[in-house]
Amino acid sequence: MPLPSVRATYAIGMRTRFRRITVREGMLLRGAAGWGEFSPFTDYAADESASWLRAALEAAELGWPAPRRDRIPVNVTVPAVGPARAHEVVTTSGGCTTAKVKVAEPGQSLGEEQARLEAVRDALGPGGKIRIDANAAWDRETALSRIPMLDRAAGGLEYAEQPCAQVSDLAALRRRLDVPIAADESIRRAADPLAVKRAEAADVVVLKVQPLGGVRACLELAEQVGLPVVVSSALETSVGIAAGLALAAALPELPYACGLATVHLLNQDVVAEPLLPVQGAIAVGRPQPEATLLAEVAAPADLAHSWQQRLDAVAAELERTS
Ligand SMILES: [Mg+2]
Repeated sequence: MPLPSVRATYAIGMRTRFRRITVREGMLLRGAAGWGEFSPFTDYAADESASWLRAALEAAELGWPAPRRDRIPVNVTVPAVGPARAHEVVTTSGGCTTAKVKVAEPGQSLGEEQARLEAVRDALGPGGKIRIDANAAWDRETALSRIPMLDRAAGGLEYAEQPCAQVSDLAALRRRLDVPIAADESIRRAADPLAVKRAEAADVVVLKVQPLGGVRACLELAEQVGLPVVVSSALETSVGIAAGLALAAALPELPYACGLATVHLLNQDVVAEPLLPVQGAIAVGRPQPEATLLAEVAAPADLAHSWQQRLDAVAAELERTS
């Protein structure tokens, strides 16, 4: 398939360091069906980035399946910040009643995590839901001791997301802890995403459109895994978030709030009305990038050039493997 010729490369500063990056970079491609986002993290090689391009091409050339719902409940994401800031992030979230709190940040203590969770509970009130995300950072023993302590600090956890890297560890935690376990990296960076299902290693799976190759690929995977799905972003602009909303809108069931309220982590967006939550939910839609905003976030020439080369390399990889 020829690549769309209308392309824009962006480089947008992040409000808070996230995933150890301070600038988000990527490309937007416009085809017959609209704009798609291609923004694999810069440390991802061509083979891992191929599914990201497949997702962008689906958006640009094919569009998405019909929605079953028009509003998607979302969680507020609380980065590894201090308690005062954590409280503020929740109260300014656009009415979110579920919070995802980052834990296991290198250099931070258990006490800092407990204080963050207590602040988030205070901001949400007793009816709110709190989930934690450790991004695979703990070993099994650390997870076994930390999760119950963090569960108490939070006044109850909805689930713990990817506490350990290995599927076997997730399965062991799930047997020994009361807090439900969600799998994220074990799905999207795994050679075999169904290993989680076979090992009964998770109660919930987190699906992200770009790393998993598009909305249709995610719907198929969700059916195969047979577990409740939380759709999350890969820290995209509203162009990429629209694909996540399309997936969340097309799933047969959606019992949990999704992790799609992340546009505000970027200093700028490319659409006039960014896909942000109102009363805890984002309206399903597909806003179009504005030329003036694309110009404001345009990557410098050398960076744009390296993304063009990257796009060509990943397209060649995609061609080779499909
Ligand atoms: Mg995660």
